[in-house]
Amino acid sequence: MKRIFVLALVSLGACLCARGQRLPDTVVPESYDLTFAPDLNKATFSGTETIHVRLLKRTSTVTLNAAELEFQEAGISARGATQAATFAFDPGKEQATLTVAKELAAGPAEIRIRFTGILNDKLRGFYLSKSERRNYAVTQFENTDARRAFPSFDEPAFKAVFNITLVVDKGDTAISNGKIVSDTPGPGDGKHTLKFSPSPKMSSYLVAMLVGDFVCREGGADGIPIRVCSLPEKKEMTGFALEASENILKFYDKYYAIKYPYGKLDHIVFPDFAAGAMENVAAITYRDSFLLIDEKTASYDSKQNVANTIAHEMAHQWFGDLVTMQWWNDIWLNEGFATWMAWKPLEAWKPDWNMQQQEIGETLGALGADSLPSVRTIRANAETPADIAALFDGIAYGKAASVLRMVEAYVGPEVFQKGVNAYLEKHKYANATAGDFWNQITETSSKPVDQIMKSFTEQPGAPLVSLKSECKGDKTEVNLTQERYVSDAAKMEAGYDQIWPIPVSLLPSATKQPIYHLLTKKEETFEVPGCSAWVYGNAGGRGYYRTSYDPAEFARMAKDVESTFSPEERVRVPSDAWALVRVGRMKIGDYLNLLQKMQAERSREVVLSMIAHIPEIHDHFVSAADRPAFEEWVRDFLRPIAADLGNAPVAGEPAERQALRGDVFGMLARYGRDPELIATARATADQYMKDPQSVNPELAGKALTISAMNGDTALYDQFVAHLKTAKTPEEYGFYLQALGFFPEKTLAKRTFDLFLGPDVKNQDLYALAFPVVNYETQSEAWELFKTDFPAILKKVDAPDAVYLAQLAGVFCDAGLRDDSQKFFAEQNLPGTKRILQNAQDQVNACIQVRDLQQKNLSAYLER
Ligand SMILES: [Zn+2]
Repeated sequence: MKRIFVLALVSLGACLCARGQRLPDTVVPESYDLTFAPDLNKATFSGTETIHVRLLKRTSTVTLNAAELEFQEAGISARGATQAATFAFDPGKEQATLTVAKELAAGPAEIRIRFTGILNDKLRGFYLSKSERRNYAVTQFENTDARRAFPSFDEPAFKAVFNITLVVDKGDTAISNGKIVSDTPGPGDGKHTLKFSPSPKMSSYLVAMLVGDFVCREGGADGIPIRVCSLPEKKEMTGFALEASENILKFYDKYYAIKYPYGKLDHIVFPDFAAGAMENVAAITYRDSFLLIDEKTASYDSKQNVANTIAHEMAHQWFGDLVTMQWWNDIWLNEGFATWMAWKPLEAWKPDWNMQQQEIGETLGALGADSLPSVRTIRANAETPADIAALFDGIAYGKAASVLRMVEAYVGPEVFQKGVNAYLEKHKYANATAGDFWNQITETSSKPVDQIMKSFTEQPGAPLVSLKSECKGDKTEVNLTQERYVSDAAKMEAGYDQIWPIPVSLLPSATKQPIYHLLTKKEETFEVPGCSAWVYGNAGGRGYYRTSYDPAEFARMAKDVESTFSPEERVRVPSDAWALVRVGRMKIGDYLNLLQKMQAERSREVVLSMIAHIPEIHDHFVSAADRPAFEEWVRDFLRPIAADLGNAPVAGEPAERQALRGDVFGMLARYGRDPELIATARATADQYMKDPQSVNPELAGKALTISAMNGDTALYDQFVAHLKTAKTPEEYGFYLQALGFFPEKTLAKRTFDLFLGPDVKNQDLYALAFPVVNYETQSEAWELFKTDFPAILKKVDAPDAVYLAQLAGVFCDAGLRDDSQKFFAEQNLPGTKRILQNAQDQVNACIQVRDLQQKNLSAYLER
């Protein structure tokens, strides 16, 4: 699955009482015969199923998962005899138990159930999706919602074959995991019956069913038919996705050494989708903004997000779908792997996208999330649906991917690939654990990967490696020490009793040849060849750790950064420096000086790393009195870069440079308050409202947000009107975000009312975070959030309660911190305990940086 991480206010659990409990392992499903007849107008469905199971011991009861279903009839057959079964539900455990009068012997048996359910509006299970024209029936089962569509053994280890039949209206079609093998009229007038080929052996959370008037753009690669299916009116925006998918499939067929195993591949997009996308076997589903691209207006980032999402979900077809984690505690391996892998096919398809630089950006994001004192470990236990949902976070995706990236670089990409292939071959159509994976890589590489992976997945946080070097004759003595880095100066100085085996990749200035040193102790001293003036501690930039240096050595190195370091290494330099600023080990003035020294930089990912912290310095760390001086510093810093980039794209300019122009423009106007650019933004916004195609896509979204920040009620009204008539998901998203950034406090109230009303879909409620993040309306918006909380809960409702509580982390103020902690604690949302601790750490860290650095910043700005 691909999650939305924009402070995703996604959803909340329907049954706050849910206490997941694992099923007994004495009944094992082999296959399901399932027939569904959804009624799209009444929003209901009826179903019949036969589950072919093996009973591992004598029993008169069978327990399976079922939630929000009604059973009309149930029976169990074994050894030629059929018995009616009584049924009892346990809604708290989301289970149903069937009981027969006469005990059943061990061996094969068949469970038959007739049932009915509701096509809900909560974006999970079998649910209703709506366009302006009509209704659709669609599914989203990960993590634990197949049980809302049919009685099932709804745990990942219970793999089975699914034989699906759908009875649908005459003018409609249906899509599922298999191909349509028969299409017959009836039963009754106005219906036809579609039977799908048997699925491979797979977990229940990967079943998909979609019913409506979908139309598909058809293509293929390596003999596999590929379709991108959408509502008819969206078909013109599916071409980019098809092209991406064809290229990605060819890459994976080679990389995995197992050809795409499911015979066909469909990508389906429809309105109303809680996550970003979902890797159902051979029937991947998407929210509109994660698949649809209007080639005439789409921005560089929007295209990349779509391509990356497709690559992520397709990576899961092997890693996750073909081989599945034994239990949810190893979901990180699914998600981390897909996140790590997704860059590779795009590097091959679009070399000018410089994906290898963005990978390092992902590592930096993960290190940021991993710096909270209360952060969880990658591997974590979870039993209830809410706790399982809470595992789909930045640690499972970004940290896991980053650790894999470090290990891949350490053992070498070819060796790593061989290990992956052996692992998939060994466990295909079955389940595996994280241990199975790293033991395989250890065996293939003959390096202690198991120790490294275990220590990075079972310990929280990440190390800071401090490095000192001294030339001694024709050699250089290197001293390395490690400590856990946390964004809390006092805790950092007190120290943690944690040690990782770290594959440190060193770059000595004398040889410029990277060499690995496996640091296994708190401190080690050793020699490397050549007399070096400095030794950089993260050659290639792929290490999952930060580095710091003796100031004199850092000064020598800083001079050579531009000429010697690769972009992947340069991305890390400002980021590692900022980490030291956060804990008071570097003065913020020295950090800003470092940025100025890097002013000649034009690689987009490096520039993004350089400007990454300007927003928080501007909004939170600088005093109100000094803010104008800081805005002046931003103008001095960025204007030369903007001047070099020019006002408009020139013919043949790489897309990356165009996107960079947008980034610098946005920063200058927003945090430099450059009056000329604010005027340009407004003119661009006006033009965009008239004709989106006439505006440079890299400037459009930023121009709308900046105009909002300087806008009035009249402009607000215009944006609301354009939100309602937006033609593409990206255009819609631009207006949705911009509405959260008007400074006028009464407009925050209108934004809440709008977002909670019928014009904004449940799936887009994450946008409520924008007016709370906007520091000008923050306290008012937070009050609105509290008042409207019952309405928010009513509108969104899924097992992801957890994401709401993330909002408690956006503040930088003790009063709002305590108030938000108290508020969420009172709501008692399941699965949120750790999220709230993380949020508290986040706010504390922000307050601490301000306390540590505000005076330094003031002194620096006065110079
Ligand atoms: Zn995923």
